[in-house]
Amino acid sequence: MDNYCFELITGPMSCGKTEELLRRVRRCIIAKKKVIVISPDVDTRAGGDYIESRNGLWLEAVKVKHAVQILSIVKDAQIVAIDELQFFDKNIVPVITKLMNDGKKVIGTGLELDFKAEPFGSMPELMCIATQVDKLHAVCMKCGCENATRTQRLIDGKPADKSSPLIMIGGDETYEARCIKCYELPDVKHKAKFMGLKLLQFNNSK
Ligand SMILES: [Zn+2]
Repeated sequence: MDNYCFELITGPMSCGKTEELLRRVRRCIIAKKKVIVISPDVDTRAGGDYIESRNGLWLEAVKVKHAVQILSIVKDAQIVAIDELQFFDKNIVPVITKLMNDGKKVIGTGLELDFKAEPFGSMPELMCIATQVDKLHAVCMKCGCENATRTQRLIDGKPADKSSPLIMIGGDETYEARCIKCYELPDVKHKAKFMGLKLLQFNNSK
């Protein structure tokens, strides 16, 4: 009971969150703790029942669709590792609180911002209830600086528009880490509205 904690590892894409999670989990395994690794069912990066970091490390993981299901599968595990927390429904906050109340050590990862640079899912609440938050930075894929904090969405190699749907069908959609200076979010709709307004003002002034 006294050993409860919630370590949250966050940052943009490609900053090594999963790699860090796996490093901490491996230490727990060496310490002979009972560990369970969980990942959301929506994560498409890993095809099977495992989580994998970009440098090729991996661990078996239980895929879970709804946050509440976590409570029934942890059983007597002392360490609960959860990858990609941003994809879980909002019940993830009371679920992790319950795990802490039960004396578990929770280690989680999650993207803090989505491609629009807005807080992702329940990450703000999770950062508040965490007993430790580690923010990792990535290398900017455009300028090479080591301060990348944003996740850039690219569609067919070009920065995605703000109004592009969260789930893309067709098109070559990729993501890369970028710093604040190199991050781009075109907003065609807003620009059109602004242009229309200008035109209206121009017509009225005649
Ligand atoms: Zn940059």
